[in-house]
Amino acid sequence: MTEKKMEFKTETKQLLDLMIHSLYSHKEIFLRELISNASDAIDKARFESLTDTSILEGDTGFKVKIAVDKEAGLLTISDNGIGMTKDEAITELGTIAHSGTKEFVTALQESKAKDNPELIGQFGVGFYSAFLVADKVTVLSRKAGADADTGIKWESTADGSFTIDDVKKEGKGTDIILHIRSDEDEYLDDWQVRSLVKKYSDFIEHQIVMDVEKEVDSTVAEGEKVKITEEETLNSQKAIWLKGKSDITGEEYNEFYKHISHDYADPFDVIHYNVEGTSEFTSLLFIPATRPVDILYKEYQMGLTLYVKRVKILDHCEKLLPQYLRFVKGVVDSSDLPLNVSREMLQNNSQVEVIKNSITKKVLGRIKNLKEKEYDRYVKFYTEYGRLLKEGVHFDFERKEAISELLLFASTKSEGDSLRSLDQYIEGMAEGQEDIYYITATNKEEAGNSPYLEVFKEKGYEVLIMLDEIDDMVMGSVEYKGKKLKSVIKGDLNVDSEDKEKTEEKKELEAKFKGLIGLIEGQLKESVGGVRLSSRLKDSPCCLVPDEGAMDPNMERMLKSMGQEVPEHKKTLEINPAHPLFEKMAAILETDAESELLKEYTELLYDQALLLEGSKPKDSTAFVNRVARIMAGNPVEPS
Ligand code: ADP
Repeated sequence: MTEKKMEFKTETKQLLDLMIHSLYSHKEIFLRELISNASDAIDKARFESLTDTSILEGDTGFKVKIAVDKEAGLLTISDNGIGMTKDEAITELGTIAHSGTKEFVTALQESKAKDNPELIGQFGVGFYSAFLVADKVTVLSRKAGADADTGIKWESTADGSFTIDDVKKEGKGTDIILHIRSDEDEYLDDWQVRSLVKKYSDFIEHQIVMDVEKEVDSTVAEGEKVKITEEETLNSQKAIWLKGKSDITGEEYNEFYKHISHDYADPFDVIHYNVEGTSEFTSLLFIPATRPVDILYKEYQMGLTLYVKRVKILDHCEKLLPQYLRFVKGVVDSSDLPLNVSREMLQNNSQVEVIKNSITKKVLGRIKNLKEKEYDRYVKFYTEYGRLLKEGVHFDFERKEAISELLLFASTKSEGDSLRSLDQYIEGMAEGQEDIYYITATNKEEAGNSPYLEVFKEKGYEVLIMLDEIDDMVMGSVEYKGKKLKSVIKGDLNVDSEDKEKTEEKKELEAKFKGLIGLIEGQLKESVGGVRLSSRLKDSPCCLVPDEGAMDPNMERMLKSMGQEVPEHKKTLEINPAHPLFEKMAAILETDAESELLKEYTELLYDQALLLEGSKPKDSTAFVNRVARIMAGNPVEPS
């Protein structure tokens, strides 16, 4: 016996289970998924046959065939495409969601996939959707161009394992045989199958056929009817992107989108256009309604489907889009590229560059238009994709300013959840204000309470609140309409530089606290890069400030928590000359330069600054003991 029993991978089992329990109200999509796989298999065979005609086995009539056997309870979807070898069947049909890792499963479980079937849809459950309606699935397959006795039979009841066996299979390609569950027998109905094909797969460019029984007039006995079986084509096979826009309904666009994206929700937006002239291509693009859950993982498969003169060449062709627009899905059909183009050939191909530029321009144009004309919808879009646009600001040098214009931020001046753009910020800038200020934080509340905002509150300057982890990397290098973006947490702010009198006052204060600053600097030289008077603090006594080019403390903490090495950078300790504490410290210094109390205060000062930036004191026990001693009225440790 050659039959072998094998276990599914753990993630596969979990996903299978999750899928069956979350997609129960979307069962009918199984047919779309299986037809889509069959159509892909035909695309592959046709593509390979361009260089090796032997795989055709003399048969060029590619088609997908659906057969219903009511009595046996079987629904079969067959194709004469590329087929699978034994190894391929084991790996391809044994792993769900190719980029599937444990993290994805966890993410899905956490996000309650049950209530959001579109989430699980994003993983391309594909083949496994067969188990939505079948309690057993049998796959017969044979690689195109191989011997008939290299066929395989794969079978599973979705109980965690599958069997694989060798069989003889005359025709190339694959039969997916569904043993339909008794309570799902509506899928054994001709009419139901026909309407599902029409609904979901009408635009598939290959023929989808089914044998149907028909009553026709008998040719032998006049006046009598006889039953015959006839092959009927169920789909109209029109490549939707080649039709005129006015000939396509919204519903058709939506179904096509679901076909290529495996999404269950309708797309947020459709962009359909063609270009003629030196470069000729048609492009049908979609923005999904929600950001794909795995879009920030490196396994995320970006890219559009590339067709050349209606022949599908490549899925996930990443060269047609910049990385930061990787949420865009769709197809590009080029008339200029050669049919035998390969992934490698697309590298540095000037035609591809032209298409990529055109698509980038078109998509950004649409987004801008949305912002200007349909702001509420834009905010929805931005909530999903703003994080990606920021990548664009960083990496797309040419369009840095154009993409910056699209950004929205929470701000100290925005009410509730409303957001502000850079243009709105500039419009509301105070007199004498030169730069655009922002603070990075993990949430809006934390930002609002930050001591780093004190001077801005006093002066009435707006501060943008940046909550994405990449903000620190991106925003520091942005200049928008001639105005620099500056972090309120970093560098010497000099917000008062315009004010002559203040500068005089500052000089006086510097002279007054010179001795104290020197002392603190000496004592903390291992921990801080320097000490200076603060122009950002109004109430709090002190804070730590990184240099302008240095890493933001949020980022630093995040990297450290991920176990990453962070280059050591000594921050500057800023002290608030208006705080009575420093009067007191300066007075102590005047009477006793060696004062133990002053040393205790200096240590505490540094720990307070650490706490204010969101870090822990250097030595928590020592910190607590110092505070407790002060509370007990006995600040200096007895020697
Ligand atoms: P996807 O189609 O997103 O890759 P599926 O779970 O639907 O995911 O299918 C997994 C893999 O199984 C496919 O990538 C393909 O390699 C193989 N496969 C599925 N159906 C067929 C078929 N009819 N012919 C050939 N290979 C198939």
